[in-house]
Amino acid sequence: MESRNWIGGEWTTPNAGQVVIKNPSNVSEETGVIHLSDKADVLQAGQAAKQALGKWASTILPARGEILYKVAALLEQQADDVARIASLEMGKPISEMKGEVMRGVNLLKYYAAEGVRANGTVIPASQDKVLQYTKRVPLGVVAIITPWNFPVAIPIWKIAPALISGNTVIWKPAEVASLTATRVAQVFADAGLPAGVLNLVVGKGRVLGDVLLKEVEIDAVSFTGSTGTGMGIAAAAASRNIKYQTEMGGKNAAVVLNDANLAITVPAVLSGAFRSAGQKCTATSRVIVEKGIYEAFSQAVRDEMARMHIASALDPKSYLGPVATADQHEKVMSYVKMAQSDAQTIAQGQLQVEAASGHYITPLVVEGVSVDHPLVQEEIFGPMMTMLPADNFDDALALCNKTVYGLSAAVFTGDISKGMRFLDEAEAGMVRINQETAGVEYQAPFGGMKMSSSHSREQGQAALDFYSQTKTCAVYYG
Ligand code: NAD
Repeated sequence: MESRNWIGGEWTTPNAGQVVIKNPSNVSEETGVIHLSDKADVLQAGQAAKQALGKWASTILPARGEILYKVAALLEQQADDVARIASLEMGKPISEMKGEVMRGVNLLKYYAAEGVRANGTVIPASQDKVLQYTKRVPLGVVAIITPWNFPVAIPIWKIAPALISGNTVIWKPAEVASLTATRVAQVFADAGLPAGVLNLVVGKGRVLGDVLLKEVEIDAVSFTGSTGTGMGIAAAAASRNIKYQTEMGGKNAAVVLNDANLAITVPAVLSGAFRSAGQKCTATSRVIVEKGIYEAFSQAVRDEMARMHIASALDPKSYLGPVATADQHEKVMSYVKMAQSDAQTIAQGQLQVEAASGHYITPLVVEGVSVDHPLVQEEIFGPMMTMLPADNFDDALALCNKTVYGLSAAVFTGDISKGMRFLDEAEAGMVRINQETAGVEYQAPFGGMKMSSSHSREQGQAALDFYSQTKTCAVYYG
């Protein structure tokens, strides 16, 4: 497969360079080639989005919704193919990838339905015969910059609410998700989305990002990716006074208290840590365990990890596959080496494939480092989890909050009072009792506190607040 740009309704092949994408599960195979864009392509996408804006913004909401329903139906029909391309491009196991595509379908249906829901409120006026009400109006042209780790769901949870709100979009996917992005854009095209309403520009973020943020007439930017990149985007957006949203890194903790039910806790903690090879912003990277259950929890983790199937992303049995790229492999392996020298291993998985055949990393649980250690403080974004002992619940809560990030946190306990206190006091945007740190639902707000986010929220109704602005209208009819 080859990537293409979709600008103003035309499919083009940009020519600022090529990158060959290898199958992360088997690096001797080529998955496809991506073609990189340059400044002119981004400027062209900006013009196309601007040109399409007036007509799309004045298209009645139910008609916008109908198009999103068509995209949903087509994506559902083509789910297997879309999932397969993504698994071959960035290595997420096919079973999980199919789930992600179906999440995309549900997101599209959810926002399609906004086409016939209320988009304002009537507010009593202080004068007789005055109708005062609010209505949502579009922002204009929105830049959407997405990462590779959820190559279908994240773009859709931004694009669908942006489109139903009447905006036009310039979408810059991560380089390693560009084949999947081309395939997803094709679904929007086949569903009959008018030319220029969604524009896909493939290329390197640091080359295209500056043009997009500084030279294109965008009215808002929604970004998901690393905290470093997000902070730069926020600064650029603030300097132009355009609306921005940045969803960034995490260092999420699961807290296991003495009374936790291990039959629920262990599968949930391991799923949070190792599904998608730990490459979720909401992945469990720290597990804080009360001393009374520390040994029993460690043993249960060892037992469960011995059964984990770690193989190709296309193997339907794979619990986890490889990490996405050679760069990602190198970065995560630097933390594995750090763990080998500074920490002790609690449990390790067993690869069912030759390690060198792809970007495989054996999942690892370690202990024996202090709370300030990089393994406990830095986002690793790979299949590694560090265990910290806690003296009691208060100590566990303090350890949980000792991070600059604040995306998600979970507590495992049978004590409802402690559980509820955790929900009150854990400094994270998503807090859960007896559920893994990852896996939040599309109809609920999603986002982080502290350095994990611009304090805005995505998905659910919250996304509509970002992709629209409110007008307060008053009509005197006396
Ligand atoms: P990244 O920051 O490297 O890239 C994200 C996107 O930004 C890509 O499309 C990239 O091309 C683009 N980009 C890079 N430099 C840019 C620049 N200077 N200007 C504009 N755009 C630029 O992140 P990644 O490696 O693709 O993704 C992994 C990161 O994403 C992790 O930190 C993870 O926690 C985070 N993430 C966060 C969430 C969330 O909702 N909070 C969800 C998924 C991933």
